[in-house]
Amino acid sequence: MLPNDDQRSLQEAARCVALGRRLPTYMQREKDAGQDKPTDRALLHEMGTLGLLGVDSVTTGLIVEELAYGDFNISAIVLVISLCGAIIAKNAQPAVAAVGLPRIRRGDAILALSITEPGVGSDAGALKLQATRDRDAYVLNGKKASTTYCDYAMPARRIRSRPQWSNGWRRVPPSMSSTSAC
Ligand SMILES: Cc1cc2nc3c(=O)[nH]c(=O)nc-3n(C[C@H](O)[C@H](O)[C@H](O)COP(=O)(O)OP(=O)(O)OC[C@H]3O[C@@H](n4cnc5c(N)ncnc54)[C@H](O)[C@@H]3O)c2cc1C
Repeated sequence: MLPNDDQRSLQEAARCVALGRRLPTYMQREKDAGQDKPTDRALLHEMGTLGLLGVDSVTTGLIVEELAYGDFNISAIVLVISLCGAIIAKNAQPAVAAVGLPRIRRGDAILALSITEPGVGSDAGALKLQATRDRDAYVLNGKKASTTYCDYAMPARRIRSRPQWSNGWRRVPPSMSSTSAC
């Protein structure tokens, strides 16, 4: 497969971000920040303006490869936003998707994947979190762990014997949203 013109220009934009903005200061930022590494929201917003967020999976793959050359961490955000955004676009109620997806594409909100639970890592079939319908909302009962980069998390729950996505996302308390693990 050869990238089309749009994909090539997005690749180029991602390369500029990686080489110009992330790689030169990567090691220094690690040293300066120590354990506390707030996500660069301004850069994320800029990447949204450049069209690097929430695009199709093949284009996301091309963008992620370029970004990861300069900063693996920022590439991981783009990857998960694209993955979760596609699940929401396909499964969420239109009104829910209409509010959330544009914010994610603009880089105003980070959406994360939340599968892991305390005591449940690789085995997604053993998830314990339950989502119970209560009129037009869901009540989540359970714990999640190790969710990386998030304002909003899309928690996986278990229905009968199968793991399944809840049909939306949940706001993560601000105290948990600024660093790489929440
Ligand atoms: C930096 C980082 C970021 C993360 N971000 C997220 C996130 O955003 N969202 C999220 O949901 N989770 C996240 N995780 C959690 C990560 O996905 C889990 O750590 C992973 O699922 C493994 O779970 P575990 O550590 O409990 O290992 P376990 O599931 O206990 O596995 C332990 C070891 O046994 C092996 N193993 C397990 N099952 C089998 C099997 N059936 N056959 C053979 N070998 C097996 C595994 O490969 C592993 O080596 C993150 C973890 C890290 C380190």
